[in-house]
Amino acid sequence: WHPYAAATDPGPLWPVASAHGVRLKLTDGRELIDGMSSWWCAIHGYNHPVLNAAIQAQLDSMAHVMFGGLTHEPAAKLARRLVEITPPGLEKVFFADSGSVSVEVALKLAIQYWHSRGEPRRQRFLTVRGGYHGDTFGAMSVCDPVTGMHTLFQGFLQQQLFAPRPPCRFGESCREEQFRPVAELLEKHHEEIAAVILEPVVQGAGGMYFYSPEYLQRLRRLCDDTGVLLILDEIATGFGRTGRLFASEWAAISPDIHCLGKALTGGYLTLAATLTTNDIAETISHGKPGLFMHGPTFMANPLACAVANASVELLLDSPWRENVLRLQAGLEEGLSPCRNLPGVAEVRVLGAIGVVEMKEAVEMRRLQPALVEAGVWVRPFGKLVYLMPPYVMENEDLNFLCEAVQRVLGQQ
Ligand code: PMP
Repeated sequence: WHPYAAATDPGPLWPVASAHGVRLKLTDGRELIDGMSSWWCAIHGYNHPVLNAAIQAQLDSMAHVMFGGLTHEPAAKLARRLVEITPPGLEKVFFADSGSVSVEVALKLAIQYWHSRGEPRRQRFLTVRGGYHGDTFGAMSVCDPVTGMHTLFQGFLQQQLFAPRPPCRFGESCREEQFRPVAELLEKHHEEIAAVILEPVVQGAGGMYFYSPEYLQRLRRLCDDTGVLLILDEIATGFGRTGRLFASEWAAISPDIHCLGKALTGGYLTLAATLTTNDIAETISHGKPGLFMHGPTFMANPLACAVANASVELLLDSPWRENVLRLQAGLEEGLSPCRNLPGVAEVRVLGAIGVVEMKEAVEMRRLQPALVEAGVWVRPFGKLVYLMPPYVMENEDLNFLCEAVQRVLGQQ
């Protein structure tokens, strides 16, 4: 059974034999230039010698031990490093096994925090439309109610509060009245709201939409004024993708709870982390029951932590900012001819993210094979054909990728 697919008819599938650098090699010998970084995570490309060595070295000492009652250096080192590099004030790290689970952890932390403060009524979350936070139930409840398939699970999903999608776009400033809907919702419901949750600056799977950091700054202030926590989901935006190490840096704000995943391990293994403040950690720990009630079997898996440590150092030691700016310029130049295609509604680029938004939903069964024929791996969804190349992609490969997208979209 493949993701977002029917078990009986998954559509075309391409068997991959190996992957190296920015290329996926199919079992029939064809090579595809990777425009997806395997859903945002393989930022250094595939089969990287430094990451391979880190995982092999860890394998020689231990692949896994439980994290209940035991600890190990790969996890401790990673936690220390994440605290150092994330926005100020985030001091405690809880490891989870996927992005969705780290969102569940964030929601649970917020609820337990208020429970410990004697405000158990605060169990709802406020978010913005157009968001995506994962496919588990808590995460789904704060995804966009239309594209997040709320109707399918209605009756089971928690009813959350939705403000409009942030109306001011990246690069624009926000007008006062554009905050009114979210401010009114916060004002009216703050006594039952545990936290506001959203993706900073870039909404990913909910529409590949870039909004103004001013919106985030204002939201931070609104949360402070109404005494509501702020959760930022940086699972997709973290580790440089938008041109800042974390997208919250565009707004120079710190959240109360921060979710990381995807590129954390450079695309090697599934690992996510939820970071929070000392205040939240201490409040929960001194409250009742005084324990945080979560503990996955593979929490802080040593192999995943070891490769995450290597990936973070590899990133920070590399000219990642220059690379992302270079990719931004290349995507701008390479995708801008798409603006002249009749089916295209808009082209937008931020950091190493290039988006061609079509007027109509694409026909995947036709488009995907055509892209593979053209020698590239791009996986569109809905109206969106987007590129998120590994940061190490050379200009020549990026040009090839953009030209292939332009040509194939021109033929549709
Ligand atoms: N939050 C965001 C912003 C995401 O982009 C994703 C994954 N697309 C998730 C959460 C869920 O992460 P995972 O797929 O690892 O569960």
